[in-house]
Amino acid sequence: MQTQNRFYQVPHCTGLGHRYPRADAQLRGTKAEGGWGVVSTQETEIHPSSDITPSNQARLWDDNDIPALQLVTDSVHQHGALAAVQLVHGGLHVANRYSRQLPLGPSHGSVNCDDPVQIKPMDLADIRAFRQWHKDAAVRAKQAGFDIVYVYAGHNMTLLQHFLLSRYNKRTDEYGGSFENRLRLFREVITDTKDAIGDTCAVAVRLAVDELLGERGLTHNAEGHDIVEALAEEPDLWDVNLSGWENDSQTSRYSEEGFQESYTAFVKSITSKPVVGVGRYTSPDTMVRVIKQGQLDLIGAARPSIADPFLPNKIDEGRIEDIRECIGCNICVASDNACMPIRCTQNPTIGEEWRRGWHPEYIPALRDPASYLIVGGGPAGLEAALGLARRGAQVIVADAASEWGGRVARESRLPGLAAWGRVRDWRLFQLQQLPNVELYLDSRLSADDILEYKIPDIALASGAIWRNDGHGRQHTEPLAFLDTANVLTPDDVLTKGTSVLSSDGPVVIYDDDRFYLASVLAELIAQAGFDVQFVTPAPVVSPWSINTLEQSRTQKRLIELGVKIVPLYALHGFQQGILDVACVYSGQVRKLPCNSLLLVTSRLPQDTLWQELSAKSNNWQDAGIQSVSRIGDCLAPGIIADAVFSGHQFARLAGEVTAPLIKREDFARV
Ligand code: ADP
Ligand code: SF4
Repeated sequence: MQTQNRFYQVPHCTGLGHRYPRADAQLRGTKAEGGWGVVSTQETEIHPSSDITPSNQARLWDDNDIPALQLVTDSVHQHGALAAVQLVHGGLHVANRYSRQLPLGPSHGSVNCDDPVQIKPMDLADIRAFRQWHKDAAVRAKQAGFDIVYVYAGHNMTLLQHFLLSRYNKRTDEYGGSFENRLRLFREVITDTKDAIGDTCAVAVRLAVDELLGERGLTHNAEGHDIVEALAEEPDLWDVNLSGWENDSQTSRYSEEGFQESYTAFVKSITSKPVVGVGRYTSPDTMVRVIKQGQLDLIGAARPSIADPFLPNKIDEGRIEDIRECIGCNICVASDNACMPIRCTQNPTIGEEWRRGWHPEYIPALRDPASYLIVGGGPAGLEAALGLARRGAQVIVADAASEWGGRVARESRLPGLAAWGRVRDWRLFQLQQLPNVELYLDSRLSADDILEYKIPDIALASGAIWRNDGHGRQHTEPLAFLDTANVLTPDDVLTKGTSVLSSDGPVVIYDDDRFYLASVLAELIAQAGFDVQFVTPAPVVSPWSINTLEQSRTQKRLIELGVKIVPLYALHGFQQGILDVACVYSGQVRKLPCNSLLLVTSRLPQDTLWQELSAKSNNWQDAGIQSVSRIGDCLAPGIIADAVFSGHQFARLAGEVTAPLIKREDFARV
């Protein structure tokens, strides 16, 4: 068996799993079409005792699950790629919320998700049964048409890894205690799988070689190394990475491209089998270096393949500038953690290939190409402009600012967020290549300007501004006492820097937005030497970034920077340099000295232009205006991925009288 190239889409979740198999099949097929030599599924549960509900992974519980996965293999094979399936038993990672079976593990203990559930330690009969389930699932995988079948021990999410780790495995029989004993089940399952399907399928092993826990966990220079050494020639392919998921899928805020190399590079020196590894590889130069240095044989990618499913073809065709590089924001990961179909900041078409019929590279020409004016060159405006221009429209984009990118330009100057600038850079470069696009900076447009231009279709992508009245999740009315405080918003710091803060005393950052921005601003302000207090009604800093796998790193970083964190407190009053904050449970008040109060609460659309144009709607006909629409944050403030999606959707639906319904498969049978 041979791959057509070295581009290997390693297993990654899509949130499409067993509930949306057609959508998943189309997504995977699109990757194969884009040139990935191997395309893998997400983790695929082998048995009802490995039930990760409400998360939506793939399943091979029984033969009824085969047709859904056959859709995937057919779709992948259609483009000449190999199809891989990552079999999983979640062990103590799953609470079996749907199947209500007892979670299984090597020894007594709690499940490592939040449910108040303990494990049933596996006796020898359970172990025999598990081996049979795994074997049966491998046979089903073969029947479904997979070329590569994984035996998976990683991410702190699999039974096989739980047996390997002495902190979970406290057994005293032949499956516990010594290294060889803890390795036994893994070795047996690899052999079982080879015996069951090794005649036609390759058996891959996915192993986390380091957990970044030091002596408390597996490390690449101790047992991580020893496992590879002990099993070196057993599998047909090694797929090696870091565990848990927060270490494997680190964001660009916390790591650079190739961040796993120092942990995984040793593997190739031990085995003659092909080795695949990941590290948010998007740069062809880095990929070549990694292969030439003999660190990997195959370039593994999950996120780079989501951001640009056509990355391999673009490299093959020498179209390097066309690669839409992953920005390392983990919105894709967050989608899975929040149990929803995949989303991506860079690629608005991901997950929409089947239900909306969106292709990442092709967009149908407009039946009647008209002219469009896009007001605002942030993520929404640039994406809309690109989609429309590719459909053949004449497109003018005007932005009041002296740089492109809107919020992305400003936020990418914050600590750790430089890669986010790629949202702007890729779109701008693509627009600059097209003859039917005109781009104007320093062009603040008024309603009268727009009426004068006589352009038939207008999209307002004028963004949003942060509120300065405290309105957010906790306070749903403006707070009058803030009038006397030195209140600032993220817009002030993003446009003017930390010089807007009073240097006489402490800065209080009040975060009721609960995602990344307040924490990044805290980092910036603390690094500038200010005394920073971080107040939030939430129990932790940036709670939603648990979904992007960043929360604990963020809280740690703020602690290390000396930021004083005041969780579970809301705004209560302000007088003469003293901010009163009240406990969200007891109402107990604390007084905090505060010379500058930076509110990160919620935003309002910047839609003055929309209101002015609406007031003049009687003049539209004379001005030849047919439609005025709002897109992105100007319509409803959201994350950058939502703005890009909104811009893309606008371009796709241009010229349509009614928006087509999305196809649903919730109730469909395969
Ligand atoms: P989104 O995330 O929806 O794309 P952004 O806030 O990132 O929104 O971008 C909005 C852009 O719109 C900013 O670059 C801003 O300068 C621009 N803008 C706002 N009002 C006007 C206007 N009246 N004329 C031209 N550009 C405008
Ligand atoms: Fe990369 Fe962000 Fe897209 Fe995920 S959501 S693939 S991290 S750009």
